[in-house]
Amino acid sequence: MMEKINCLDLKGQHQQIKQEVFAAFEKVYEKTAFSGGPFVEEFENEFSRYIGCNYSVGVSNGTIALHLAMLVLNIGPGDEVIIPANTFIATAWGVSHAGATPVFVDCDADTWELDASKIEAAITPKTKAIIGVHLYGQPFDVDAVKAICDRHNLFLVEDAAQAQGARYNGKTVGVFGEMACYSFYPGKNLGACGEAGGLTTNNESHLKHLQSLRNHGSVVRYYHDEIGYNYRMGGLEGASLTVKLKYLEEWNNRRREIAKRYQTEIINQKVKMQSKPQWSDGIYHLFVVTVENKDAFVKHLEENNINAAYHYPVPCHLQKAYSHLNHKIGDFPNSEYLAAHCVSLPMYAELTDEQVNWVVQCINSF
Ligand SMILES: *Cc1c(COP(=O)(O)O)cnc(C)c1O
Repeated sequence: MMEKINCLDLKGQHQQIKQEVFAAFEKVYEKTAFSGGPFVEEFENEFSRYIGCNYSVGVSNGTIALHLAMLVLNIGPGDEVIIPANTFIATAWGVSHAGATPVFVDCDADTWELDASKIEAAITPKTKAIIGVHLYGQPFDVDAVKAICDRHNLFLVEDAAQAQGARYNGKTVGVFGEMACYSFYPGKNLGACGEAGGLTTNNESHLKHLQSLRNHGSVVRYYHDEIGYNYRMGGLEGASLTVKLKYLEEWNNRRREIAKRYQTEIINQKVKMQSKPQWSDGIYHLFVVTVENKDAFVKHLEENNINAAYHYPVPCHLQKAYSHLNHKIGDFPNSEYLAAHCVSLPMYAELTDEQVNWVVQCINSF
């Protein structure tokens, strides 16, 4: 029997880079550059280069990045924003925090990403934007969603919180919409030692507006041109991200390798995987499968010392927080099926080949 294998374990990675991160922390400490400042700027520059965009803005977390994207696009009360029903709830928070209304659309039954063919039925005169989510680290169908945005004069925003380094038709995601939003929560593929988030854009006026909004609506210190926020990224977080960004490609590639093994070696017909469209080169933030008899499957995994997780057990439209939108079971059947049957397999770069062997073997014996 193997030692316990969790869905995610951050210890191996942080042991590996500890000296380097501590050296970076020491520099922040010497400069007392704890809030914003040069270490955040350095990360922003490196991140822009990595994504292949003109500008990046570091903020306090990914939820805030989404909120700021809405504010910069002048989206507020009375406006509607289309988002997938199958996403982490924070996609919807970004819309709600701006005072606008999230309008949910079901996911595709096979790719489990936003179903572009169902978007147009959800568009109303109040619709201002679509937030496409590259969920689990796999790109949604950007071209199809973008074509709808163009046809209806809507903004496209990418929620790339789970997809730092994923590629759509060979191009790194985060450059397709007006802005892309990232979370650098510790558990994401690129995670800070702390809470952090960010945005990328090619639009200079968006950049300037984001920089002002995150810093009390101020460009010149103590002069406030609009009602702003304190949404800055911390210096320690920025410094840790600069160190970790250097390893991201290597870590993502290891995840791709593990995913490939799961995809080819798991031959149990009871286990269904996310289909991978030809445009997609994902980074496997999560490796979600569905199993009809989920409880028995999870019990079997647990008996074999494998801890499963669920992403996500309740779709957005059925969350209590959105009960005022009056959704009911049956509104988005694909998202509901996923919520009821999803299980996330262990997925992180430091999984050993022996651990992957064990997971595959246990799943095939179910
Ligand atoms: C993590 C996540 C967010 C929110 O990021 P935080 O940094 O946790 O605020 C938003 N959207 C998606 C899809 C996420 O996975």
